[in-house]
Amino acid sequence: MSELNETVLVTGGAGYIGSHTCVELLQSGRKVIVLDNLSNASKASIEAVEQITQKKLPIIEGDIRDRVALDQVFSKNSISSVLHFAGLKAVGESNEFPLKYYDNNVNGTLNLIESMTAHDCKTLVFSSSATVYGIPEKMPLTEDSDVGAINPYGRTKLLVEEMLKDLYAADPEWRVSLLRYFNPVGAHASGEIGEDPNDIPNNLLPFISQVAVGRLDKLQVFGDDYDTADGTGVRDYIHVVDLARGHLAALDYLEPAPKLGIHNLGTGQGYSVLEAVNAFEQASGRSIPYEVSARRPGDAATSYADPTKAREELNWQAKYDLQKMCEDAWRWQSKHPMGYGS
Ligand code: NAD
Ligand code: UDP
Repeated sequence: MSELNETVLVTGGAGYIGSHTCVELLQSGRKVIVLDNLSNASKASIEAVEQITQKKLPIIEGDIRDRVALDQVFSKNSISSVLHFAGLKAVGESNEFPLKYYDNNVNGTLNLIESMTAHDCKTLVFSSSATVYGIPEKMPLTEDSDVGAINPYGRTKLLVEEMLKDLYAADPEWRVSLLRYFNPVGAHASGEIGEDPNDIPNNLLPFISQVAVGRLDKLQVFGDDYDTADGTGVRDYIHVVDLARGHLAALDYLEPAPKLGIHNLGTGQGYSVLEAVNAFEQASGRSIPYEVSARRPGDAATSYADPTKAREELNWQAKYDLQKMCEDAWRWQSKHPMGYGS
């Protein structure tokens, strides 16, 4: 663990997954700096991480597309590795404003890699997504399953994966980990950090949480005529703390020698929309009214990971089940009904 005295730069570290990962990094004894433009986050998350860990978490308010800001961060600090979460993630918005997504996610990452290269920092963990598998035909999804994103957001993830593979092929001194997340949900067990969507949530669990806390009236279940056990869509929900731990495992995996690795981070277990509703009702003691509406365009019936490769190569495995994910999500939501604004 020669990296312990050096600093990990976390882009997007004020956001949902980044903030949970900062907790794990700080608790492992690492020094951490966050770079975030706060376009989808609040500084309150950084303060909450400091409170949970009783450690300082410096944040630089800056944009990954700003080369001057990046160069300053690398010049002023001894950065050994970068965990790169910064990016935009709303599929619907990416259909409407594709260039905003290519600019933030692809151009921003290119800029980051150029600055890293200039400062001889060649260890990068990238937040990819199971969305790169498109509408998959065979379950479970392995890292060798066909890829083919079906919206601009997914294509930005695929493009960055390809860019990083090309970079590694040209310069095998790089250490690159591409982590394909399945469906991150839940919150830190303290209930002090969690997911805080700006608008009406697009994703299932945050929507259910806001129904439970009374911010929204009822859930729309997008289709109950899929070829699944109860007809509703099946996903591989993964506790955000398990996901955060996966990043530390990725850093350990990259440490001994340069390499490029691609890993699914999921539990390997799929749950339907109705199972998720049920689990949340149990965790919160509240009823979640819902009605069935039309399928959401572009949704796959089923998506879940084969997590074998991460277990074998990263020595990582998810620990928490759906019940714990819902309990922790509910603790955060009920303590902070309006998110960081409350
Ligand atoms: P998030 O929006 O909570 O966090 C992203 C952070 O990046 C935010 O704090 C935002 O302010 C910051 N940011 C955005 N553009 C930036 C820029 N140009 N410069 C600096 N900072 C910028 O999202 P999250 O759920 O924590 O996701 C983190 C990463 O994981 C993203 O890259 C996302 O695409 C990926 N991912 C998320 C999910 C998910 O369901 N949450 C699934 C798969 C992959
Ligand atoms: N879903 C739903 N109602 C919602 C949001 C999502 O029924 O308000 C369903 C969606 O069709 C999918 C599952 O819940 O089957 C997970 O959706 P989410 O958007 O959270 O993840 P993704 O589809 O991107 O994997």
